[in-house]
Amino acid sequence: MDELPKLVDVEPCKLGRSFENGNIKFYDNFGIIALQFKRSVGPVEAGTMICFGDKIDIIRGFPKIRRTLMLYPSLENHFKDEVAVEEKMNGYNVRIALVNNKIIAFTRGGFICPYTTKKAPEIMDMSAFFIDHPELVICGEMVGSENPYVTHNYREIGKLGFRIFDLREKGTNKALSVKDKIKLLESYSLPRVKFFGLLKIDEAPEKIFELINKLGIEDREGVVIKDPNMIIEPIKYTSSQAHNGELEYAFTYPFDFGRAFFFSRVIREGFQAFELDETDDEITNRAHKLGESILYPMIDAIKNIAEGNHASEDILIHVENLKEAENFVRHLRDLGVIATVHSYGKGKAIIRREHQSTSDRISNFLRGGLY
Ligand code: ATP
Ligand code: MG
Repeated sequence: MDELPKLVDVEPCKLGRSFENGNIKFYDNFGIIALQFKRSVGPVEAGTMICFGDKIDIIRGFPKIRRTLMLYPSLENHFKDEVAVEEKMNGYNVRIALVNNKIIAFTRGGFICPYTTKKAPEIMDMSAFFIDHPELVICGEMVGSENPYVTHNYREIGKLGFRIFDLREKGTNKALSVKDKIKLLESYSLPRVKFFGLLKIDEAPEKIFELINKLGIEDREGVVIKDPNMIIEPIKYTSSQAHNGELEYAFTYPFDFGRAFFFSRVIREGFQAFELDETDDEITNRAHKLGESILYPMIDAIKNIAEGNHASEDILIHVENLKEAENFVRHLRDLGVIATVHSYGKGKAIIRREHQSTSDRISNFLRGGLY
């Protein structure tokens, strides 16, 4: 309690209060004892883990990336004369660091994920990197068609892959510049997100629209626009296909998502159509796709429940034995997800995730319940 406030630059009384009201919690799992930040406290991001081992390791939360709805003038207002543009990959956020001499993978909220901790070293060899740079945190996206959180098909990745987008210092969360990051990752042959290059600020909106158009056609999510020196915070911008894809997924389980989720995606479509100065035909086309992404999955969801099924989702993961699958389900429950091991065989486990509110509410309306 004496050391801690100095380590994280938060007033002692504020830390104490956060602990009392549950914003900071004790964490003891998978052999790591830590303080887990459920919410941000002063400058310390939610998802931060202060791990106690031979020494104290502070793995700061990954900072939230804000979004622009209008590339012009957002970029000009926000950045200096140049921006670095990277692909935004659609998977789940992972921070990997050396804690107590072990390579540990944390997901967004600061949870150690047993699956990711096991898989990441199988996908890429980080041992040499961490021997030379034990004070760095690898921030990246776990992606692919067979991962337990966010599945997306990338032809160059297939079932499971990892793409690194940031290298940050433990403790301070300071990020390496885009150039230094690329150089370091290349020297250890570690996989990184695609770098589309440096753009002058006045040509950036047009070039980014070209990129977004191409990415969208290939069913890819979008871009993250960064200050080459990583001093100013990054900004994200996404394709119409990404918005529709997320709506389609969310309307398959409509009552398990907050309303803000749906609203935000519709707003993005509105501003994108406006900024692109679309023709009537283009707008009609956009409206069609938006409507289809909402209505088709919604009607399918009702049909499914009317036929007596549950709103559930099957997730395929590769594990060595049943116990590993059960461990993972326990981890999902810690995250508040209702899931069971549906089946296991030959290294493959099907995890069944229940979307309970969707099942309950739709069946209630089908029985005539009032909305
Ligand atoms: P949050 O911002 O809290 O993660 P969100 O679901 O709104 O939640 P996204 O819309 O997916 O987040 O955008 C931010 C996330 O994008 C980052 O947390 C990171 O996991 C991911 N990401 C993918 N590619 C990159 C990249 N090149 N640079 C930075 N982040 C990236
Ligand atoms: Mg994402």
